[in-house]
Amino acid sequence: MPREFDCVVAGAGLVGAPLALGLARLGLKIALVEQRVARPAPSEPSAAGSDARGLALARSSARVLTDVGLWPVLAPHATPITTVKVSQRGHFGTLRLSHTDLGVEALGYVWRADHLQAALDAAVLSSTVTRYWGARVTGCDVTETAATVHLATTDSSRALSAALVVAADGVESAVRRVAGIAVTRHAYAETAIVANVDVERPAPNTAFERFTTSGPLALLPLGGRRYVAVRTADTATAQALLATTESIYLAELQQRFGDSLGAFSKLGPRQAHPLVLQRATKLHAPRVLLVGNAANTVHPNAAQGLNLGLRDCAVLLTSIADARMRGVDLGATELLQTYAKARAADHRATACFTDTIARVFALPSSVAGATRALGLIVVDRLPLLKRGLLQRLAGSGGAY
Ligand SMILES: Cc1cc2nc3c(=O)[nH]c(=O)nc-3n(C[C@H](O)[C@H](O)[C@H](O)COP(=O)(O)OP(=O)(O)OC[C@H]3O[C@@H](n4cnc5c(N)ncnc54)[C@H](O)[C@@H]3O)c2cc1C
Repeated sequence: MPREFDCVVAGAGLVGAPLALGLARLGLKIALVEQRVARPAPSEPSAAGSDARGLALARSSARVLTDVGLWPVLAPHATPITTVKVSQRGHFGTLRLSHTDLGVEALGYVWRADHLQAALDAAVLSSTVTRYWGARVTGCDVTETAATVHLATTDSSRALSAALVVAADGVESAVRRVAGIAVTRHAYAETAIVANVDVERPAPNTAFERFTTSGPLALLPLGGRRYVAVRTADTATAQALLATTESIYLAELQQRFGDSLGAFSKLGPRQAHPLVLQRATKLHAPRVLLVGNAANTVHPNAAQGLNLGLRDCAVLLTSIADARMRGVDLGATELLQTYAKARAADHRATACFTDTIARVFALPSSVAGATRALGLIVVDRLPLLKRGLLQRLAGSGGAY
């Protein structure tokens, strides 16, 4: 049976959509399957159901988005980050990371997740990608010559055949499951609560990571006085925080952060995200590859997850362009193995980096607190260490 598509991408999320666009730009016939329907960007940050998370993306990720033609639509919504301040409540010692340490104009950019997704949806709609929106991947069969992906909508089902299936369908990936790829999973027993706030005295283009005895608090600039506050707490505390009134929640945030930015106000809706470290035990099965959260879901403490997924995208696009030039079948084991090999070290290092931060900053004793404070001071004073950390955060230490 002739193959309908070169590649089926399952999941049009923040990794699947740019990947599908990049593959279509290589001149390939691409199907993109997504269970939700495309939605326009909400006009109001607090619109019900909107994903108001601020996503901090490294320079390397901005480059991936540029390469797939998205920068012109995304640039107007980007808030550049030029400084990152890391501190610990109740201890001296601040680590200050600046764009001047790397000699670049910005360390990264912040986008609201819903703006980013809406821009990606719009770009997909005006591309050559064949869309199956409102369709769920339910199965996948593989023969020596093709993979067949089964989809179900509310009232019908159908099958798509392709040389390669890419699983970009997130942490609970159906493609990964039907391909028989297992995962290792560690639940942190922590929940991140995301909510936008106004601050009285904004520090332009500055992001803050403040570690406290009951979990980290990150503030990412959204432009003007608006910041996205990501408050991580153990599950029981998080439940209580989600149930409190707006004024109590704001007061609690303020107490954790301190008053260097003045008073917090105008709290947006609170969204809860339980945190896990989940890693696929392998990145490929016959004619199937994993990318993004389907491959690795990491703690958001260092804003690494989507950056890692976009580096998957970049490496896969390069491998496929190369395979195509050499006339290699896109589902060939050689290509699958090349991708998996190229991504292994970055996946391992990023999982280890975020997990180490999560564990080290969770240690409760005052000795641990003083040691962490010393660590921040040491990294702040040692240019080589600082540069290494900056390169990891800026994504330039990875394969891309
Ligand atoms: C609180 C929080 C803050 C974060 N902040 C940052 C940050 O600042 N920087 C950063 O780099 N990362 C951050 N991340 C991580 C980032 O959100 C993820 O890495 C990113 O969303 C992964 O994208 P993805 O496309 O792989 O998966 P997803 O975004 O989960 O997309 C998967 C897509 O697949 C679709 N899908 C699922 N199942 C099916 C199916 N069976 N059939 C069809 N479609 C399906 C879903 O509808 C969805 O659209 C954060 C995460 C959290 C929780």
